[in-house]
Formats: sequence, C-alpha cells, structure tokens
Amino acid sequence: MEKQLEEIRTEFEHELAQTGSPQELEELKVRYLGRKGVLTSILRQMSSLSAEDRPRIGALSNALKTFIDEQISARCKQIEQTGEGGIDITLPGRVPRQGTVHILNQVLTEIEEIFTQLGFAVASGPEVEDDYHNFEALNIPAHHPARDMQATFYFTDDILLRTHTSPVQIRVMESKGLPVRIIAPGKVYRCDADVSHSPMFHQVEGLWVEEGITFAHLKGVLYEFIHTLFGPDLPLRFRPSFFQFTEPSAEVDMGCIFCKGEGCRVCKQSGWLEILGCGMVDPAVYRYVGIDPETVTGFAFGVGVERVAMLKYGINDIREFFENDLRFLRQFSGR
Ligand SMILES: [Zn+2]
Repeated sequence: MEKQLEEIRTEFEHELAQTGSPQELEELKVRYLGRKGVLTSILRQMSSLSAEDRPRIGALSNALKTFIDEQISARCKQIEQTGEGGIDITLPGRVPRQGTVHILNQVLTEIEEIFTQLGFAVASGPEVEDDYHNFEALNIPAHHPARDMQATFYFTDDILLRTHTSPVQIRVMESKGLPVRIIAPGKVYRCDADVSHSPMFHQVEGLWVEEGITFAHLKGVLYEFIHTLFGPDLPLRFRPSFFQFTEPSAEVDMGCIFCKGEGCRVCKQSGWLEILGCGMVDPAVYRYVGIDPETVTGFAFGVGVERVAMLKYGINDIREFFENDLRFLRQFSGR
C-alpha cells in the first residue's frame, strides 16, 4: 500500500506539470481528491489493514492528501499571476454589438424635428385615459356611434387605453390655456390586427389654437411637413371628411411616391396615398375646456407614424415593426 501511495504521488506530480488552466486544475483535483478520486479509494481500503499498519498508512495518506491540495493551490496561483495558459492576451477583444435606434423612433424624431422648427412644442399625456378625455371632451358623447369606429380596450366603464393621441389636446388646453401650438407623439391602442393594423401603434397629434388661425395656416403647416418628409414637389389633395372634434374636416392625400401619380398597386391605381386627417377645431370642443369659441380658432391633425414609415421605406406589413427581427431592423441602422 505504501508503494501504491508513492505511485499516486509520482503520477500526480507528472500530471500537475502538464496542467495549463484553472479548469484543468479543477479536473485534476476531482480526479485525485474527489469522492470517486484515486486517493479516496485508497483511504476506503484502510479497514482491511492490520491494526499496526493502519496508523502509519493513515498518516501517509493524509500527508499525500495535504501535499496534493497544496500543490494544486500553488499551481493555481502561478497560472493566475503569469497569465500562463487559458488566457491568450494577444487575441482581439470581443466587440460588443452595437444597437441602433428603432426605425419608428427614427421617423418619430424626424417628425418632431420638422414641427419643432415650425414653432410647435412637444407635449405628452397618459396612455391609460379616462372616457372623458378620450371621447366626451372630444365631442364624442356616450352611445355615439363614432365610438364604435375605434375598437377600444376598456379596463372599466370609465378607464381605457387611449385610442388616439387627441386627448392630449384636451389636457393641454385644460392645463396650459391659450395660445397652444403643440404636437403630441405617442402610443395608441385599438383592438385590431392585420397587415395594416396593430393593436398598439403610434400617432402624432397636432394642435394650433390662437386668435386668427385659419385653414390656410393648416394647409401651410401640412405642406411644409409632408414636403420635408417625402419630397418638395409632391402634390397634396384635401378631401372633405368628418371627425367629431373638427369642423370642417379633411383627409389629406399626397401624390403616390411609388408611381408619381401614374397609378400602381400601392395607391390602388388612384395615384394618391392617404396620409393624415385634419380639420378646424370644432367649437363644441372649446366649450369642454372652458374656452370661448368666439375668441379663437385653431386646427388639429393626426398622423399615423407606422403609416408614414411604411410609405417612406416601402414596408408593406405593419407587423414587421414589432417582431424584433434583426434582419429587418438592421436595414435601418446608421440612418
Ligand atoms: Zn401609385
């Protein structure tokens, strides 16, 4: 048995010299001192020894165990200090992957910049709204059929996820008074999902209320906005429309950027693309926020950010924005 212990020691020293990394040392330790280790199996045979051999072999085994332990610790320190084995300091470092701003945030920023330059301030409001701000004060009373056009997520009868950014108009007029010249970008929610609808999407609301504001101001601002975003010579067309909180109301089409008005699949052969809704603020809305409608006029508009991004970059499925597919997202890096 003494001989066996001697062999283990020789074998261990030989193996130790060949280790080069902390992992290898750990493996070596397990192989010798672990529960199924070489030395442990020797110690298990102690019971078969005679009474006079047992203390001597026991002492020798323990000495060997201590020796192995110490040698491994020493070698471990040596590897750490010299950087020997395991770490190759000449290897190039790992370059962290660089993220990019999401395409929707890029478009949002661009829209904000255009309006900021036109003198608009950026306002925000809660995404969890009450019925009053989302509908009532925008001249959409309870039981009005216009509510059904906006499939709404309700928490309670009174609390809901805002279906448009228009409640920010109300909140700003309530709290800040006049004059108001703001845009309100943000998330809105509707119970709707297909290639052109997402249950969560982004809108930018615009509102300018001041003495003497006319439809000409509205047209001027929207021409500037659309021409900056899509190109300077694009024709615009204002189609009469209806919204509860504006009167008169219009839907704005721009000349199709894909076929230059010739007619194509995207514009359904019409040569026009619908881009936003707008109108002069309905006098009824001023009454809800305590403003005398005889003293001021103003306009409001709302534009879908996904819609703008889809047209600008030729994206045909709204779901692409929210699936976090890096192959899609990376196409818009570095813009
Ligand atoms: Zn077209």
